[in-house]
Amino acid sequence: MTELPALPEAFVERLHRIIPPERLPGVLASFALRKPATLRINTLRAGVDETVAELRHEGFHLTPLSWMAEAFQVPAAEREALTHSAAADAGRIYLQNPASLLAALALAPRPGETVLDLAAAPGGKTLHMAALMGGQGRISAVESVRGRFFKLRANIERGGASLVKTYLMDGRAVGGKVPGRFDRVLLDAPCSSEARFSRLRPASWQHWGPRKIREMARKQQGLLFSGFRALKSGGVLLYCTCAFAPEENERVVAALLGRYPHQLAVEKLRLAVTNTQEGLTQWEGQTLDGALSGCARILPDSTMDGLFLCRLRRLS
Ligand code: SAM
Repeated sequence: MTELPALPEAFVERLHRIIPPERLPGVLASFALRKPATLRINTLRAGVDETVAELRHEGFHLTPLSWMAEAFQVPAAEREALTHSAAADAGRIYLQNPASLLAALALAPRPGETVLDLAAAPGGKTLHMAALMGGQGRISAVESVRGRFFKLRANIERGGASLVKTYLMDGRAVGGKVPGRFDRVLLDAPCSSEARFSRLRPASWQHWGPRKIREMARKQQGLLFSGFRALKSGGVLLYCTCAFAPEENERVVAALLGRYPHQLAVEKLRLAVTNTQEGLTQWEGQTLDGALSGCARILPDSTMDGLFLCRLRRLS
């Protein structure tokens, strides 16, 4: 058997400083695994029981996810066929990593609310929020990259989420245009995608490096300030990235806390999974706001990718 390519040394060295030593071997091992596919049944389009029966009838081996009634896993070998199934084509199911399901659950939008999704394509979390809202209310979904915007539109249409209005624009401009407009904001920010690296796909890290992290952090900062401005007083913002880098996570949130110390609070996350660690309050010799421990890093394992999550409330 041939050895898989090694992850970049500098990346592994940083993980040693980010992740507790007892969790690191499991995280490093996860980069070499072929993980099962996870699907969410889109309750805007179909019932759970009938869709499960349909997929089992077609030969898929479904295992329920213990913490979410509409989500199921199938073996990695069935991923391709699931992607091209009639249920996927018709928007009755959406393939989504389990970690990313936790983002909409943590934001917890309710029917009738106004929600902003500030970096929305291809729309997996937009559709999940639409389902959590039972199709009631309004979601404004913003995407700045034209090709991805059209993919988002197609997915929203396929998913039957008529409460979603899509906007092709730079999310950094939204807060200035519609300050104080939304009950909830999701910022699933563009990032260095470190938690998606796979030793089966060396191309997954080809653009990675300190410069990429710095570039992403600048963009995330602009988007987060915009999202915060767009939030109503009392509203909730969920910031997430699929990066491990504290420069793209805790430090981005710390900058917002520094600018608006009396106008926002970090709400401690209580997640349904245990492969998590608290947000860091120290990085490279700098002490960060202690409230950042309320954020969470989901650590990748044999079924899940990684994700950083932080829930913020705008105070009146
Ligand atoms: N939330 C999406 C989902 O669950 O399907 C994934 C979002 S992805 C992590 C980040 C998205 O932000 C990408 O589609 C990227 O093109 C978009 N993006 C990058 N810069 C942006 C900007 N300035 N304004 C709005 N969207 C932006």
